[in-house]
Amino acid sequence: MTGYRDRFAEGTLVGVLTPEPIDRVLDYRAPEGGCGTGDFVEVPLGPRRVLGVVWGPGRGDWDPAKIRSVFRVLDAPPMREELRQFLTRAGAYTLTPMSAMLRLATRAPGLGDPPSMRRLYRRGHAEPDRMTDARARVLDVLDSIDGSGLTQKELADHAGVSSSVIKGLVAQGAVEEVDTLRDAPFPQLDPTLPGKELTGDQASAAATLAEGVRARTFAATLLKGVTGSGKTEVYLEAVAACLAAGRQALVLLPEIALTAEFLARVEARFGARPAEWHSGVTMTERRRCWRMVGQGGAQLVVGARSALFLPFRDLGLIVVDEEHDSSYKQEDGVLYNARDMAVLRASLNDAQAVLASATPALETWANAEAGKYARLDLPARYGAAELPDMRAIDMRAEDLPGSEWISPTLRREVAKRMAEGEQSLLFINRRGYAPVTLCRACGHQVGCPNCDARMVEHRFQKRLMCHQCGETQPIPAACPDCKTEGKMAAVGPGVERLAEEAARVFEGARIAVLSSDLFGSARSLKARIEEIASGGADIVIGTQLVAKGHNFPKLTLVGAIDADLGLQGSDLRAAERTFQLMRQVSGRAGRAEARGVAFLQTFQPEHRVIRAILSGEEEAFWAAEAAEREAMGMPPYGRLAGIVISAPDPAPAFDLGMALARGDGPLRRIGAQVFGPAPAPIARVRGRHRVRMLVKAPKGAALQGAIADWLAPVKLASGLRLSVDIDPQSFY
Ligand code: ADP
Ligand code: ZN
Repeated sequence: MTGYRDRFAEGTLVGVLTPEPIDRVLDYRAPEGGCGTGDFVEVPLGPRRVLGVVWGPGRGDWDPAKIRSVFRVLDAPPMREELRQFLTRAGAYTLTPMSAMLRLATRAPGLGDPPSMRRLYRRGHAEPDRMTDARARVLDVLDSIDGSGLTQKELADHAGVSSSVIKGLVAQGAVEEVDTLRDAPFPQLDPTLPGKELTGDQASAAATLAEGVRARTFAATLLKGVTGSGKTEVYLEAVAACLAAGRQALVLLPEIALTAEFLARVEARFGARPAEWHSGVTMTERRRCWRMVGQGGAQLVVGARSALFLPFRDLGLIVVDEEHDSSYKQEDGVLYNARDMAVLRASLNDAQAVLASATPALETWANAEAGKYARLDLPARYGAAELPDMRAIDMRAEDLPGSEWISPTLRREVAKRMAEGEQSLLFINRRGYAPVTLCRACGHQVGCPNCDARMVEHRFQKRLMCHQCGETQPIPAACPDCKTEGKMAAVGPGVERLAEEAARVFEGARIAVLSSDLFGSARSLKARIEEIASGGADIVIGTQLVAKGHNFPKLTLVGAIDADLGLQGSDLRAAERTFQLMRQVSGRAGRAEARGVAFLQTFQPEHRVIRAILSGEEEAFWAAEAAEREAMGMPPYGRLAGIVISAPDPAPAFDLGMALARGDGPLRRIGAQVFGPAPAPIARVRGRHRVRMLVKAPKGAALQGAIADWLAPVKLASGLRLSVDIDPQSFY
């Protein structure tokens, strides 16, 4: 990308894009001193002053007398051409208004504030006239850190003193105050430090990726390898090549809980920690990250999907780890898939995109098959570690009461591991105690008052909770419907109930439950994970959270309590997701020292997906899955868009859907079909009735344009909402 930008002299018309929900670029006059394309500016809007970005020349279709002047140009590096293009292209792809796209790219506080200072405290040259315990502690703390200093609060907290002690020491010159820039560059990472010695396969994959980075050209590569095969080691070499070339790198992870382990690996590899960008980062650090990324003071960012919208100065590499993970699809607001957007952004930067996974999304697999993406395989686990042995437990042959879920076979196997001092993981992908709370007198099931969903019992929190809207209520003693007392019963298993059963069955076992709702913070979750990894539990009971990349070296058995769970339902990706999840969870068993085994409890061991999971014949599974999708014209061999219309009452939503179905001319012109309207599988969420439509188009069709034409005449009556989800992942 060139650095060329248009300049506009004072008084010229410029078009300014703001993150305010106005669906057009607004005309203003350039301020005194002029401004240029990409400049961050403050503009008057009605009675307010709002942030904006100069997007280009003004349109000149506004009454000249009403056009106001840009208030000021902010002290921030202008938005680069590349990022403006990325927002435009991503907006066009997802049919998102540009104002909403700009919001994604300006998610840091105080963007236009002048560089601010903060006061730090460090050791002064003088000695205090009189030494007290408190004073000695302060000086000890300052002597124990490097010269950069601490804030007054940090120092007071560390030393366990009040601020008056610090002030006293300042007055005597024993402590000195220094004012430093708040948004300091991140510590330098050193790409020349040696990495691990790579195996042959790892080394050649790393060399290929590094070569791509050095070539400064765009390419997307699927890096496929089982858990533990060294994908992370390999892509860290690509990061090293990128940093050595003086360009920036971005690594996306699907789960904040994973960042801690990853940060430690980066520090071990490059001698310092990278910048972080995710919901757990403080506002001050967010601002620092945003600014430093733009100024080149951050070489590597580790983050969640929204890090894709940071104003990188020179991005050379984007890694999407666990690229198949469904959390990369943002499901509210702007509906984008971070994996696809990473590839788009890389292409606009002459950068490399690396998509790493043990079980890639079918889309990615197919792109590699078609030669659109390169593919690198790491065929073996690192070191002596072997893949776990996969076995089915046929639940039809197990003698198990209806209110228990751990089969006798699984019990025996777990008991053996306990006797050996090894860990077992029991996996069930359901949070809470039980999915259904039912009255045994009248059959009533407790539902959410706002949603068409059952309330899920969370016994640890002693509440019923709606997993759609978060509504909670006490667990009722009497039936809310027939008022009978003492007849409410929990039906079905959740992770908490499984823990209860395990405690009963495995006497004396130390049991740890890992479920995202049981931890207040990423920090407490991380602490728990570390404790488990070091042997602090015999049995880990977990939801999907445990499937993602935590390394438990003592874990040798995985038991999937309900391997069939994901196969129910008509979701397009049910087979693919079950395959991914079961392979991924099984991969937790056995690392370097001991071979693992994974048991799948199933009522249909002959099901093709279960058989594929057991046999591990991945390529055959993907090929069969691909053939089936192709035959149906489904993604990635056809295109889909999901439409959700919602309203406080069902009728208007349905009526709009009917009207749209009748006016499907623009869709038919590209050979697309529209299905629906039909009530959504969860027909009411947060008090809104939801109607779904599905648009299905041939692969090469210009879907977005047709949908835009189709929806152009729609004027949403008040209370109605319509959202378009291109390439939908969820169909609820
Ligand atoms: P993946 O990302 O594919 O799950 P990792 O890169 O995390 O695999 O590797 C799994 C484990 O094996 C890690 O602890 C890693 O440090 C170690 N490992 C992988 N390759 C090597 C190597 N060549 N030398 C030393 N340790 C390695
Ligand atoms: Zn609800």
